[in-house]
Amino acid sequence: MTTTENHHIVLASRPTDGFRATDLRLETEAVVPLGAGQVRVEVDTLSVDAFIRTTLNADSYHQSVAVGGKVMALGVGRVLESADDSFAVGDTVFGPLGAQTISQVPAPFLQKVDVSTVPARSYLGALGLTTGLTAYFGIVDVGAVGPGDTVVVSGAAGAVGSFAGQIARLRGAAKVIGIAGGAAKCTFLVDELGFDAAIDYKNEVVADRLCDVAPNGIDVFFDNVGGGILDDVLFQISERARVVICGAISQYEHMESVSGPTNYLKLAERHARMEGFAVTHFTEHFPRAQADLMGWLTGGDLVVHEHVEHGIESFPMALQKLLTGGHTGKLLVQVNANAS
Ligand code: NAP
Repeated sequence: MTTTENHHIVLASRPTDGFRATDLRLETEAVVPLGAGQVRVEVDTLSVDAFIRTTLNADSYHQSVAVGGKVMALGVGRVLESADDSFAVGDTVFGPLGAQTISQVPAPFLQKVDVSTVPARSYLGALGLTTGLTAYFGIVDVGAVGPGDTVVVSGAAGAVGSFAGQIARLRGAAKVIGIAGGAAKCTFLVDELGFDAAIDYKNEVVADRLCDVAPNGIDVFFDNVGGGILDDVLFQISERARVVICGAISQYEHMESVSGPTNYLKLAERHARMEGFAVTHFTEHFPRAQADLMGWLTGGDLVVHEHVEHGIESFPMALQKLLTGGHTGKLLVQVNANAS
């Protein structure tokens, strides 16, 4: 890969009727000299995240991308050149590198990562801000999962969901139930991740299956999906249940008309609570979470399943896959063929 040209993904047109890969396009530009305090990074691997979809709207909780602007993405890479004393050539870094091959980033946006015991891409997956850390805070701090709990996770075969279910088990949950689309993903949850049961929301009636697999009610619901699945679970929560709003991917294609839950009065009937969070609300607690996640990862307590697409040109289709469930586990784009 050349380091004098940057191949980057831009927003070609705002999605109007559901995101399509053709809403993005690949462009090439010459790499320009570094500005003061900037660091030039050769991008190794990018994290394909649900939040990227929301940045393609004109209004976004995360910063909105202009038409023709570069698409955001978190990534890991190696420093090629640094105009800041805290980074040296060859350092492996994590940060908002963008959907591109060469990134020039202000130094304060980057973090050095230790790749002596885990591969760099672990800092996008099991140890990643939008994956492992998000799952951790949702289960441990917001959901307060403890011994004996029955925990349900939606979007369970995706990146956040697959770690959320595993962390719930590590925190002592008695029963972990996943909701995912398709028989293959449900088999993956039970056979590879050790979930107690899985519900195929595309082919089964979620409400009926919840009665079968959680007859005594649901103590914690970790929700990645929203919409009808949130309603189905709310109907069956236990006394003092915790409903964790991590995300609502079923709603991201029409943010101007999000459907809220109709069964929310179950919260009052069952003295339960529903609480949303963004992982960035927990920055002061990152060291605790990172230590726990690193311990579980290196101790073999977390199953890591990755779906890797190759080449920056695959990024638009990878984002389409994320939104339509065409992957299992953590979805990554390996930009540099030599990345670890
Ligand atoms: P992911 O789970 O790896 O991929 C998204 C999955 O969502 C797809 O695989 C698909 O799986 C499922 N899905 C898509 N449309 C759906 C629908 N209409 N109904 C049900 N399921 C649907 O993605 P991720 O990056 O880990 O993100 C998961 C969630 O976490 C998102 O809601 C995201 O916004 C949220 N998140 C929140 C934070 C935070 O700070 N709160 C941080 C990061 C991520 P199926 O094949 O099973 O349909």
